[in-house]
Amino acid sequence: METKKKHIVVIGAGYGGITAVLRLAKQFSRQSEIQVHLVDKNNYHLLKTQLHEAATGKKQVAIPIDRLLRRYNIVFHLDEVTGIEPDRKFIHTEHGQLHFDILVLALGSQTNFYGIPGLSEHAFTLQSLRDVQGIHDHISKHCALAASEPNEQNRKAILRFVIGGGGLSGVELAAEIADLSARCTRSHRVNSAEAEIIIIEAGTSLLPHLGESLSERVKRELSEKGVTIMTDTKIISLSVDAVTLSSGKTLMTKTLVWTGGIQITDMFKESQIKTGGLGRILVDEYLRAVDYPFIYAVGDNALAINPITGKPVPTSAQFALQEGKLVADNIHATTVGTKCKPYAPSAMGEVVGLGRHLAAGWLALPFKKKLSFAGYMASLIGTAIQEKHIFQLRKLSRNWTMR
Ligand SMILES: Cc1cc2nc3c(=O)[nH]c(=O)nc-3n(C[C@H](O)[C@H](O)[C@H](O)COP(=O)(O)OP(=O)(O)OC[C@H]3O[C@@H](n4cnc5c(N)ncnc54)[C@H](O)[C@@H]3O)c2cc1C
Repeated sequence: METKKKHIVVIGAGYGGITAVLRLAKQFSRQSEIQVHLVDKNNYHLLKTQLHEAATGKKQVAIPIDRLLRRYNIVFHLDEVTGIEPDRKFIHTEHGQLHFDILVLALGSQTNFYGIPGLSEHAFTLQSLRDVQGIHDHISKHCALAASEPNEQNRKAILRFVIGGGGLSGVELAAEIADLSARCTRSHRVNSAEAEIIIIEAGTSLLPHLGESLSERVKRELSEKGVTIMTDTKIISLSVDAVTLSSGKTLMTKTLVWTGGIQITDMFKESQIKTGGLGRILVDEYLRAVDYPFIYAVGDNALAINPITGKPVPTSAQFALQEGKLVADNIHATTVGTKCKPYAPSAMGEVVGLGRHLAAGWLALPFKKKLSFAGYMASLIGTAIQEKHIFQLRKLSRNWTMR
């Protein structure tokens, strides 16, 4: 790598990272002394918010990186980051090391198993393309296995699909699995009434942050799809064919998908970068690591504080996108000597997909008002939000023939 140049390295090509890197490349396109790099362990941008739909075979959720970057001078490194040396300004990867002058941390989050016995060994997770392919194949295979299983109890265990965690991804996945298992059992001529989808949630309700009426609506729609909801219940342990609950009950099952918690890579703590809750990086109002002004963090990695509420900005794609854009603008401003902008998170709304043609959610209106909606219209709004990200990626990448 040429050392005369100034190297801006973005690690992670998720919502925050891809937005930051494309915007940086655009802003510095006329400055040959700046080289922008992107490092990711995968050669695609994963649409993580749609993973539950991919798990049931409905959607393609990976956009090849080369299609996104091809109109820009961005050096892409297909490599896994294994360590960061902030003082020496190097990142370490599986295949070597890379010097940076400015670093953007955008590695997202991983599943947190909270040390629950058997969970990391036997549960499916919902974080990657491989995860969703595994879930889809497993459910399809188990519907087929049920068709040739003569014992009713065994058949029910084969068709009992358990989701650990009643947050956004758990709820969306349960609804999709309900649709998939209905389809699969029908095509294998298995009695669909024997299939059971169960959400196990430690809290007192599903998605309480949506407010009581939307949360109740979600519950009602799930019940109509045949999803059983067990709140106030924790998973105590998991084996290859049973899950034990805090109620003392044991459910026989071959399928548990754990969506109950996330954590951030330990790499940041090991690098002596200051972190807070969940291992997220403590950042200032410009999204710079508090102790390293040349390191920025975005998305799930950044523990940004909402200046109005004084609370941490939630881990979510919409905030990752806003932060990726702001960080690119602030890096550009710092480089050309103009004023940086502080982060002012703005919640546009939230839509919870509830399977085929169904969703519930809200959109932000002027004067801090909210518009709540549910049903078919809500699913159209959800699709429009997903399409907006694709549209913006196409625009940002100047690639109008992406699909
Ligand atoms: C199933 C599911 C559904 C969700 N639904 C919603 C939703 O409806 N709305 C919403 O707002 N949010 C949703 N979220 C949360 C949202 O997806 C995350 O908050 C968002 O993806 C965070 O963006 P990010 O840029 O921080 O990281 P990510 O999008 O996770 O991207 C991280 C990138 O880093 C790469 N990477 C990770 N580790 C390494 C490494 N060591 N070396 C190299 N590369 C690495 C990954 O390959 C990935 O490309 C959902 C999450 C899940 C799992």
